[in-house]
Amino acid sequence: MPLLVMKFGGTSVADLSRIENAAKKVQAEVARGYDVIVIVSAMSGETNKMVGYVEGTSKLYDAREYDAVVSSGENVTAGLMALRLQEMDIPARSWQGWQVPINTTSAHGSARFIDIPRANIDAKFAEGFKVAVVAGFQGISAEGRITTLGRGGSDTTAVAFAAAFGAERCDIYTDVDGVYTTDPRIASKARKLDRIAFEEMLELASLGAKVLQTRSVELAMRYKVRLRVLSSFEDTDENSGTLVCDEDEIMESKVVSGVAYSRDEAKMTLVTVEDRPGVASAIFGPLADAGVNVDMIVQNISEKNYGTHAGAVTDMTFSVPVNQVARAQKAMEDARAAGIIKYDELISDTDVAKVSVVGIGMRSQVGVAARMFKALAAENINIKVIATSEIKISVLIDRKYMELAVQALHDCFELDKA
Ligand code: ASP
Ligand code: MG
Repeated sequence: MPLLVMKFGGTSVADLSRIENAAKKVQAEVARGYDVIVIVSAMSGETNKMVGYVEGTSKLYDAREYDAVVSSGENVTAGLMALRLQEMDIPARSWQGWQVPINTTSAHGSARFIDIPRANIDAKFAEGFKVAVVAGFQGISAEGRITTLGRGGSDTTAVAFAAAFGAERCDIYTDVDGVYTTDPRIASKARKLDRIAFEEMLELASLGAKVLQTRSVELAMRYKVRLRVLSSFEDTDENSGTLVCDEDEIMESKVVSGVAYSRDEAKMTLVTVEDRPGVASAIFGPLADAGVNVDMIVQNISEKNYGTHAGAVTDMTFSVPVNQVARAQKAMEDARAAGIIKYDELISDTDVAKVSVVGIGMRSQVGVAARMFKALAAENINIKVIATSEIKISVLIDRKYMELAVQALHDCFELDKA
């Protein structure tokens, strides 16, 4: 039997009538001849509510118990979905993570898959069951404790099952009808993409486009799982939504496929650090040890004998998530106190945003950066930091210009046109 994985997010299973609506989509695929593995999220809001319960009970909570509590929302929707399918005369059975079993590491709250043995679910399909409804987001550790995969983890569960069971496709049903060239709330001309390459989706997801958990895209790319994002609130067929796939499946790609943004950035500058071999490692080593996620880095050119410094000095600027500024500050002050680095001042700017253009077409096209900078200059937007990779160019700008920058770049690369 060909097999399909269908994943329903929190808004798609938010109440009994939406579960029924989702079950009808499953019914349609069963009627087309598929065996189906359904992955469900908790009803929307439930996981947040349970995180609140845990935090309201214990400040420095035991992560094993956090997982025991927050994994429960998916158990409810898995059982209800199986019941609804049975009501429609479709042989269905629910599965909690430990019953499959979904074996994970014991990193509670951010566990990773070890393996998903097929035997138990395959045996049920062999008995004549048509649908296995699996609770997303959860697994079991070698110690036999329930684990969770990190917020948004049901997407990753879905891709992992598609890989483990060799599914024809992994359909992610959500409350939007696909992946857009940018956020339609910011640029009204944003257009839904029919296809997008894994690499592009990976960049967009990690740059703040929230439609898929980044890890799910990584996994899909590694195992070449064709992933489709589509709406559970609309009539859909095999051409609906956006297909996230290998670039070979994309006939012609534009230079830029999407514009992403993130408000959660901060810029930090160490003023007058020594310019000598080993200084970058003396700065970024302690930041990494403190768990700070450094993204963009700029080292300015060297100046000789500035101020009180004997040798050549430079400034080092980097960006970090805004909620890690305090941690980064402490790491730098501690490193200075320990004599590991010297600097005159540490300046933090939390009023910045990152705007990025992404596209695999950039690999073979020159002048993309120049076009991007020209469009920003035309709007009088000052660029503070620039970072590039093979398929992406990111700039850090004042946060108040973020929307304007997204719109200007969307226009400049004509993303409204197919
Ligand atoms: N229910 C979990 C969350 O809200 C997992 C998921 O829905 O993907 O993060
Ligand atoms: Mg989600």
